[in-house]
Amino acid sequence: MKINDVIRTRRQALGLTQEALAERLGVSGPAVNKWEKSLNYPDITLLPTLARVLGVDLNTLLSFQEDMDRGEIGPYYTPLKTDKTPAKFLKAKPLTDWSKCCQCGACARACPMGSIDPKTMEAVGLCIKCQACVRKCTRHAKFFEDPDFLSHVAMLEENYTRRAENFILV
Ligand code: SF4
Ligand code: SF4
Repeated sequence: MKINDVIRTRRQALGLTQEALAERLGVSGPAVNKWEKSLNYPDITLLPTLARVLGVDLNTLLSFQEDMDRGEIGPYYTPLKTDKTPAKFLKAKPLTDWSKCCQCGACARACPMGSIDPKTMEAVGLCIKCQACVRKCTRHAKFFEDPDFLSHVAMLEENYTRRAENFILV
């Protein structure tokens, strides 16, 4: 479902008129009308408030799907495993070894996506596999176990860790 359909169906489900929704967001009724007709889009700064008013999360509002098909990502970049076959790890998230974790919260603070719940230390949101949480954990309690992701990381380390030498172009 596209953003215009999400806005319209959620607004109607909540029994709100376009004007009532507009009033809550501090925009005009015609602006909401244009969003619902796909003639315009909400300003990016309005999206969190819009999502809250509609009672959905941002992923739902923006029709984000973790499982992109190969046609969507293939033309841009296909991550590979050490055997050079495609690595599929879109759903991989870091895990926590509770026997080592001291609940210091450093991993949650380090996550650029704010995806780690600071109360449970679980990765609950969108994970871009940056491994900032893994590197930040001095107790080595955060780790990935997804085999495709680990193989991809190993492939990168095998092939792309050589320090590039400076050279002069004349
Ligand atoms: S940084 Fe490591 S020790 Fe600290 S809360 Fe996160 S997983 Fe636990
Ligand atoms: S790998 Fe990166 S994006 Fe994923 S939970 Fe850890 S810090 Fe956040």
